[in-house]
Amino acid sequence: MTKNSMPKPSDFIRDILDEDLRTGNYGGRVHTRFPPEPNGYLHIGHAKSICLNFGIATEFKGLCNLRFDDTNPTKEEVEYVESIIEDVRWLGFDWDERLYCASDYFGKLYEYAVELIRMGKAYVCDLSADEIRQYRGTLTEPGMESPYRNRSVEENLDLFGRMRAGEYPDGSHTLRAKIDMASGNINMRDPVIYRILHAEHHRTGNRWCIYPMYDFAHCISDSIERITHSICTIEFEDHRPLYDWFLDELKLYHPQQIEFARLNLSYTVLSKRKLVQLVSRGFVSGWDDPRMPTIAGLRRRGYTPHAIRNFCERIGVAKRDSMVDIALLEYSIREDLNKRAARVMAVLYPLKAVILNYPETQAEELEAINNPEDPGMGTRRVPFSRVLYIERDDFREDPPKEYFRLAPGREVRLRYAYYITCVGVVKDDKTGEVMELHCTYDPATRGGDSPDRRKVKATLHWVSAAHALPAEVRLYEHLFVKADPNEVEGDRDFTANVNPKSLEIVTSCRVEPSLAGASPGSIYQFERLGYFCVDPDTSKGSLLFNRTVTLRDAWAKIEKTLKKPMKVQNNQHRE
Ligand code: ATP
Ligand code: MG
Repeated sequence: MTKNSMPKPSDFIRDILDEDLRTGNYGGRVHTRFPPEPNGYLHIGHAKSICLNFGIATEFKGLCNLRFDDTNPTKEEVEYVESIIEDVRWLGFDWDERLYCASDYFGKLYEYAVELIRMGKAYVCDLSADEIRQYRGTLTEPGMESPYRNRSVEENLDLFGRMRAGEYPDGSHTLRAKIDMASGNINMRDPVIYRILHAEHHRTGNRWCIYPMYDFAHCISDSIERITHSICTIEFEDHRPLYDWFLDELKLYHPQQIEFARLNLSYTVLSKRKLVQLVSRGFVSGWDDPRMPTIAGLRRRGYTPHAIRNFCERIGVAKRDSMVDIALLEYSIREDLNKRAARVMAVLYPLKAVILNYPETQAEELEAINNPEDPGMGTRRVPFSRVLYIERDDFREDPPKEYFRLAPGREVRLRYAYYITCVGVVKDDKTGEVMELHCTYDPATRGGDSPDRRKVKATLHWVSAAHALPAEVRLYEHLFVKADPNEVEGDRDFTANVNPKSLEIVTSCRVEPSLAGASPGSIYQFERLGYFCVDPDTSKGSLLFNRTVTLRDAWAKIEKTLKKPMKVQNNQHRE
């Protein structure tokens, strides 16, 4: 794991582990698991859980399993399994040979269900899903007992065997735990533990037509793997009594379930159910669209595992639900790339500038620093010639008061090159649009400094027209226009808040020639513009970049207004 300067994390979960180790609970072992359901790609919320489970295992010299919670054959796909494996690895974690699936345990789970029936603790119910819901009661009213609740053990064993043998259609019968229809906790009102589903499973094929429910499968899977601390998100708190009930009734090894608050991030959604809709309804190009909060999307966008892990450490772990500002995620990647990304010059919206007093046939190479944060990254040579491109936005014919960049008659510095002065503007006769600038340069300012120490107020990036390479650049904004995309009017759904301007494709960019052959995934700082990552669809002769994040540090501003909550989060780290 990469070391960073942050203090070792401390939170209520690590406190529980410290205490368990002190008292010898679980024989001094720490064994966690990350249990994704393979019904979608992993997102940044999952990264929080991954960093927590695998992180704790490393810190406490324990183990962490990767386990697919694959009990729902209708929503699961091999593509998801493969992406999850790739993403957890990419984040920098390893499960050695401990890759498991709940479906590995279907046989055992079936036997445990039979055992519950034998104990008089489970029964086959003929109520439909709707009827079960009606009988369940509400938060204020107790439920009603199913008319099938008091079947004999023999009858239940026979019926359950026939459910398994495929004699009944989907939805006609369920196996339910016999607990308490008057329980204050609705999860304890005779929950369904098996249902009939004549569906092919990606691993077990058609061997089964009954499938265990999550609550039953999860605790037993944890127990079989001898997990010590089963860490999950807060919505499972009300399920904990059921987790405990199954293991206690079956007298099985009993891990401890601990709940923490899930990550919510502003301007995006973190629910696979919603993310799958963005994909299937075409709001994005796929699960790895760089606007998606998925690990695959963030990777394509240019996020590094290091930045994601730092983000997860920064947000900490608590019981209380909160919304984290997406600017904190952006801050994390900016901080990482500032250290590791090579600087280059690229012009997104080119404006031609001709240096009138520079010889037409001449060209020269100027030395440029690759990363001022890391002298070890060295220097490179950047070609300069008579015709250049500068950023369209770096020139104003009629500059406003605070505008210090190029304007008629004004002198500015070209980064690593010379001082230039704008002496003429060529415009389109019809539209009045500025087509070209005429400039002069001062040969004495080579390298970017003037011997007479005269000051210029701006330094511009540029490329040499004859040497630059064409490139397409994709600029991304937040995927949603509202901090909480679920805030919608009437019966509209969250997609009503999708940002129509979340993607701008800029096709006529020009980048310095050192970027020829830049390989997919490599990340650069385009000077003054931001960090950009080479897209996997890039090819020789058609360079394609994704903007990871701009240089502007929005977080610095936000931090001021957020000082209090940030303090609370920082307190979760040991000083
Ligand atoms: P989703 O709502 O996106 O479908 P899920 O909880 O159904 O998420 P799982 O595949 O079951 O997805 O999740 C695997 C693990 O990741 C679980 O332990 C779950 O609690 C955790 N997890 C999921 N979403 C988040 C989140 N936003 N923040 C933290 N942990 C999460
Ligand atoms: Mg789930």
